[in-house]
Amino acid sequence: MTTRDERTRWTRRGWIAAAGTGVAGAVLRGDAAPIEDQNTQPAPNRTPPLPLAEFEPRSMLHVEETRVGRARFPVIDFHSHISMRPGSRRRGVPPEELLKTMDAVNLRTMINLTGGSGEGLATTIKAFDQAFPGRFLTMTEPTWTRASEPGYAAWQADELSKAKSAGAVGLKILKTLGLYLRDGGPAGRLVRVDDERFDPMWEAAGTLGLPVAMHVGDPEAFFLPIDRYNERYEELSAHPDWSFYGKDFPAFKEILAARDRVFAKHPRTTFVALHVGHWAENLKAVGEMLDRFPNVNVEIAARIGELGRQPRTSRRFFETYQDRILFGTDAIPLGIETPQQVFGDDLYRIYYRFLETEDEYFDYAPARTPPQGRWRIYGLGLPEPILRKVYHANAERVLGRTLTGNVAG
Ligand SMILES: [Zn+2]
Repeated sequence: MTTRDERTRWTRRGWIAAAGTGVAGAVLRGDAAPIEDQNTQPAPNRTPPLPLAEFEPRSMLHVEETRVGRARFPVIDFHSHISMRPGSRRRGVPPEELLKTMDAVNLRTMINLTGGSGEGLATTIKAFDQAFPGRFLTMTEPTWTRASEPGYAAWQADELSKAKSAGAVGLKILKTLGLYLRDGGPAGRLVRVDDERFDPMWEAAGTLGLPVAMHVGDPEAFFLPIDRYNERYEELSAHPDWSFYGKDFPAFKEILAARDRVFAKHPRTTFVALHVGHWAENLKAVGEMLDRFPNVNVEIAARIGELGRQPRTSRRFFETYQDRILFGTDAIPLGIETPQQVFGDDLYRIYYRFLETEDEYFDYAPARTPPQGRWRIYGLGLPEPILRKVYHANAERVLGRTLTGNVAG
């Protein structure tokens, strides 16, 4: 079909271009070469092929553009990565710098998910949480490097209690679990998300009142071949190591099923399934998951590209689950590799525009081309009661503390 469409298009374009040169006369007289022959001729004025990476189309739509400089209500960003790991080559940004942007865009509190553990955690909490009370909160992480050691299960649960005493407000689970962590080194067996050795840790999180922020794998396209049909082709070809296709990686749905068994087994533990429950492409499935597990919430970080390309479905999702959706961005200061995560005024203003306005067809990331798929998004225009919940009230409930109470809108 494609070939025929192209022929038809070329033939018509060729005829229009030739119309002023006398060649068209031949076409009109019916003695032009057959279509097949025309296609084998080099086209004299044909534009050279353009590599996809260089294609930066500018929208010709003349539609409303609303600049939302500050969020309508104070915001808690439930998903950020602002501290440096010990030995990291990434340059850190001092909290004073972050606060300038935070104040400019009405961002009250940043939750730093990757605070590490032990000494590193203590250092981060001192530099951020304790130096600027209410503006930064830090979560801890499991010590994966010890996961194969005997006695790990009880030890890890105990570590969680120590992290809470040190000031941690939750537990972060990265894709390490389910996609990278292996018993006995890199060639070993993948550790399943619902492996029983973590049961004491999930239970301890519930007992201690520490919510678990979890991301064990998405988007769906990262589990498919990197080929012409993959809608995340450009992103995957730039970062082939983000692909979870082949090798012994579990299928996308297997990972989600293992995660759901954890949710079911630990009903007294509060989970936040990051990135819209890891399946922003399928809000029906996310809704069903939320219906099954009252102990689970979701947040929206780095997925407004998905939510915003299905604005009517998204709007219904926000209406139905307005008490279970948290605001997040996945912001990383100086995160140049992933424009959808670069901390700064621009990033927050795009999120606010998406949530607050009904603007149409705008970029979901501050980037030259859309970095997570070549499409643009549509605003949801959420009503104020829902905005309040998503911006801060739901996060305050999950964290068990008020952070925005005395702050003017
Ligand atoms: Zn993240």
